[in-house]
Amino acid sequence: MGILDPYKGFGVTFSTMFKKPTTEQYPEEKKPTAPRFHGRHQLNRHPDGLEKCVGCELCAWACPADAIYVEGADNTDEERYSPGERYGRVYQINYLRCILCGLCIEACPTRALTMTNDYELADDSRSDLIFTKEQLLAPLGEEMTAPPHPMYLGDSETDYYRFDPNRSGPFDASGLAATGAGKGADANVPGQDSEPEPVR
Ligand code: SF4
Ligand code: SF4
Repeated sequence: MGILDPYKGFGVTFSTMFKKPTTEQYPEEKKPTAPRFHGRHQLNRHPDGLEKCVGCELCAWACPADAIYVEGADNTDEERYSPGERYGRVYQINYLRCILCGLCIEACPTRALTMTNDYELADDSRSDLIFTKEQLLAPLGEEMTAPPHPMYLGDSETDYYRFDPNRSGPFDASGLAATGAGKGADANVPGQDSEPEPVR
């Protein structure tokens, strides 16, 4: 250590003393995050309200922190939650484990799982940090109907996924066609990567 080093150290202290302090007024004033910030997850819906999750568990297998628990179950014609054969009957994310790395959303084949910008995930209860499917599901849009219900957007899976809002047929009977719902698979689904938006 040189003889002048302590004075250099005090120099930093003195120069900092005259700088304006930077104080974040959180939580009263919240700064917006970067648009692609990885925050709390969201389970998305199709434009008719059915769930995009098909209970495949790929997100759980991709997770390096073992934070996701999924139990799939079969849809039936009488009780349909997703347009696929199966749906996620139980879906949980443990935010005590999650490191918000985003590998799970990369693994999801249906874009059922995306991440919002919501970063307020602190709590004083361990059990409250295990989010259930009901907490993670995107809220129902105006044109959506809560599952279970049949696929409203066409007669076949091709109709459903390549939905033309101008088509006539059973879709008209649901009253959704006039709203324009279905213009693209991600219509009316908040919080997706392209339009991140916290939901609570
Ligand atoms: S963001 Fe990463 S750690 Fe969190 S659930 Fe997804 S894969 Fe697991
Ligand atoms: S969120 Fe995606 S990857 Fe995870 S179980 Fe559902 S469909 Fe599969």
